[in-house]
Amino acid sequence: MNGHQGAGIRTAALLLCLAFLFLAACSGNGPGEETGETGGKETAAPSSQGVGRKPQETEDTISVDPIETRIFVCIDPGHGYVDGGCGEGYLGDYVEKDITMMVAVELRDILDGMGFKTVLTHDGVTPSTGDYDRNNIFSAKERVPYVNALKPDYLISIHVNAFPDDDTVSGINLYYEQNGNKPNEWSEKITDSISNAIMNGRAETSKITIHNNYTLALTRDTICAASLIEIGFCTNQTDADNMMDPDWQHKLAEAIAMGIYNFFSENGNN
Ligand SMILES: [Zn+2]
Repeated sequence: MNGHQGAGIRTAALLLCLAFLFLAACSGNGPGEETGETGGKETAAPSSQGVGRKPQETEDTISVDPIETRIFVCIDPGHGYVDGGCGEGYLGDYVEKDITMMVAVELRDILDGMGFKTVLTHDGVTPSTGDYDRNNIFSAKERVPYVNALKPDYLISIHVNAFPDDDTVSGINLYYEQNGNKPNEWSEKITDSISNAIMNGRAETSKITIHNNYTLALTRDTICAASLIEIGFCTNQTDADNMMDPDWQHKLAEAIAMGIYNFFSENGNN
């Protein structure tokens, strides 16, 4: 059931604030770039209605009943350390690793506020993964055993796409792989839920495409439900502008969080 609408919103907002007070934020990166394909769902691209942007932190938060069980979500900011990923020359002073980290931190904070237990696979600066990372790159393959040792209920890896051959290619791509490594059927459902939440959310994008069984180490070899999201194409001007915009980053993180929340609020009790 979706606890984010109808009666009780005030109470829920209060509970959420309380949750912020009580929950300690845990803090604690993916594959190559792919192009968007067919089969995508068109987004409604909601326009920024009303309210101008508020000064940072007090950006409107989502009002939901805190998740009842402490579902453990691992958030993987793609790339990091010496591995910048894509985006050089397309994202202003940023490259992919910067954008993925900013969105990951937003997502973590929102999920924490919803009552989830969270962890980032890395902080992008301090190698903290010991034997798992042998060269300060912390490759996707190295992240798999790291994530598996953490035993999260769900992993989401965040990336930026690139397609230099055609700067009109844009949009969000979501990947999952439902295979024998997974203890449940959640990967597809959570990925669908995130896609729906983005379509209903406030972060504009040209389209969303979901790819099933697209072989990526982090979605294939992890032993938990997992999704990978390519949040936009750095090679497309509109996507690049969005991805560099903190307000868009926040709205996207909010939608991803709602997608995760909506799934676990209905399926979270084992
Ligand atoms: Zn990437």
